[in-house]
Amino acid sequence: MAELFKAALVEKAAELSEEALRLINQQALRDLKAEEVFTFRLAACNDQVDRDDERFTEEALQGFAELFPGRPVLMDHRWSATVQTARVYAAAVEDKPGGGRQLVLSCYMPRMDKTEDTIAAIETGILRECSVGVAVERVICSICGKDQRREWCEHIPGREYDGARCVFLLDGAAEAYEVSLVAVPTQPEAGVIKAKRYGGPEGPAEDPQPGKGPGADSQAWQDEALLELEKTRFV
Ligand SMILES: [Zn+2]
Repeated sequence: MAELFKAALVEKAAELSEEALRLINQQALRDLKAEEVFTFRLAACNDQVDRDDERFTEEALQGFAELFPGRPVLMDHRWSATVQTARVYAAAVEDKPGGGRQLVLSCYMPRMDKTEDTIAAIETGILRECSVGVAVERVICSICGKDQRREWCEHIPGREYDGARCVFLLDGAAEAYEVSLVAVPTQPEAGVIKAKRYGGPEGPAEDPQPGKGPGADSQAWQDEALLELEKTRFV
């Protein structure tokens, strides 16, 4: 299943309540004390239309809130023990400042020599961009209602059709893989844009808009996108 990456932001450090410490200790192998952990919150994704003219549904956000606890916080989407920096211990859908709803991930990392630099980078705002790796069950075209994972349609997100703007609705939380702190946010984003034109299993029946938008491409594009995605995930 294609993994999506969406940009997100680190929020100010969460205060550590007894309940939070209890949840953290559900993830840890030994009981940690409050002074041993550093916690922070990630505004991971929300239900607003993003710059790719897509948005998550509230149902998808609620689903991710159930899937994310226990998932790793990585650095630049790299799955390696040496770069796994933190872990999600709680997740909830909350009101988003300025309107809408957002998925907020509460994360912890142990305070130790190895993590000192990362904690400092988060605390000082140097490291504040992040990106979620998730998969959804359905990608619904707002114009015709077709699920892009199963059936191709000619509509292109961001374009207007009889006065209505086409948006792709990311619906149904299939999987939450990880959330990454990204030192260079443009790189995973570049992977996403390619990886996010879905298409049915057969790809488009015909090329509706040659040269216009990622949907104009063929199976070769999909292969390339998968490759790009693999690179993003496993470099
Ligand atoms: Zn459509």
